[in-house]
Amino acid sequence: MIKMIDLPYPMNALEPYYTMETLDLHYNVLYKGYVDNFNKTEEKLKNVRESNDYSNIKCLEKNLSFFGSGAILHELFFMNLGPAIPTSPSVELMNQIIMDFGSFEKFKKQFSEASSQVEASGWCLLVWTNRLNRLNILQCEKHQNLTLWGCKPILVIDMWEHSYYLQYKTKRPEYIDAFWNIVNWNEANKRFNKK
Ligand code: MN
Repeated sequence: MIKMIDLPYPMNALEPYYTMETLDLHYNVLYKGYVDNFNKTEEKLKNVRESNDYSNIKCLEKNLSFFGSGAILHELFFMNLGPAIPTSPSVELMNQIIMDFGSFEKFKKQFSEASSQVEASGWCLLVWTNRLNRLNILQCEKHQNLTLWGCKPILVIDMWEHSYYLQYKTKRPEYIDAFWNIVNWNEANKRFNKK
């Protein structure tokens, strides 16, 4: 059972880069749907274990992964946004970005290009992987495909149409450019520190 996170800023705080109307739909309708459906799936799995009828298990496991990943990625996305007050990567995170991507500009370019070229619906993430001891940028199809097990997301952008269509229509690059204005690096720094 998970609960929706409270937004750490008012619904109009990301204007004009992300309008209140867009955020309201994204948070109160789409994100709520993932949380509700994840909880329903957990309840159904409990019933399955009690009834010992596993005929529907494949579908339920798929839903668990889909709605669970959807809920978690939306939490990260809403948390790593904030009012357009400049924040920046910590010295530690910036040094790692420079080491792994060459420069902050090269990181930003790769993140923007990878976001723009997410196939259909999905996400783009900056992640840390202990085993590889480096940052990487990953595309994620839907919420759960093409993931790298063991990675830790640092910064995420929602590339599902519902995230930008109301405001940006098909202009994905404009949405991505706007995103950079409302990134809250303090939150990314916090996640990176917990490695
Ligand atoms: Mn979304």
